[in-house]
Amino acid sequence: MSAETYNRIRRILFSTVHNPQQGMAKAREYLERYKKRLGPNGYVGLKAELEFYERHRGDFALTVAADVGEHADFSGVLSGKACRFDVTTTLRYKKWDTYEPYLGQGLGYKIALLSHDTFELVDVLDLGFERCECGGYLIPCVTLLGQNYNQHGDPTWSNDQILMDVCTGCEEYVERSRYTHHFLFSPSEVADSLIGDEDSGDEDNKAAIRAAVQKHTLSAYKYFRREFDDRLMSVAQHQYKITDPKGGGHWGMQMVFVNQAVEAEMPREIECPSEL
Ligand SMILES: [Zn+2]
Repeated sequence: MSAETYNRIRRILFSTVHNPQQGMAKAREYLERYKKRLGPNGYVGLKAELEFYERHRGDFALTVAADVGEHADFSGVLSGKACRFDVTTTLRYKKWDTYEPYLGQGLGYKIALLSHDTFELVDVLDLGFERCECGGYLIPCVTLLGQNYNQHGDPTWSNDQILMDVCTGCEEYVERSRYTHHFLFSPSEVADSLIGDEDSGDEDNKAAIRAAVQKHTLSAYKYFRREFDDRLMSVAQHQYKITDPKGGGHWGMQMVFVNQAVEAEMPREIECPSEL
């Protein structure tokens, strides 16, 4: 599945819920139809979102987050305070007793934990992460790599993505899994595809390119979070960064999206090898 397909399905489900002629029963029916395409994680995650919204929208004054611009699944109110909610299920959050609460800064960020069998709300938890040996928090990040090439140097029309934990203290990273997708381009490939030959210096054009890259990145973020890691907090790219005028620099992973909840502590760049 692609990030676009996932985000389109989520949009369809919630607009069905909000349509007075259709409502929750119809949305549940659509979700069953998309079950195979979503895969087990995407399906259970979206079902949890729908059920949480249906059963608790009044309790927590929930608003469904839009695709663009919002980082959590829902915004709402808890104990009289505005906060954001991410939904997860007991199956996806099985290691939660090893996580330590991460309070961060700004608006509260809560995890609504639902039973993966009954979709009943089990608990409302603080955001939490494992600790690194250095004392920092290990925060999940996905890096969108560039085009793959075969041994003859021909493009394979696929890109790899690395799911990793990034430490907020020592700024080391640990690779956890690797995925391959067709047409899930790196942020710089998206930018390059939009740069025209003549008007690349134009300020309006630059702003449009930045907006398109942000949209692409957020779409990938939402998709990866639901399909592969509910606790994902950031998206990075892998690039050579020139730091002196003669062309010297270093390879690194630069954050292109960071969830507001961890914005204050997440490193902006991590040094890494040229080959990942
Ligand atoms: Zn560390």
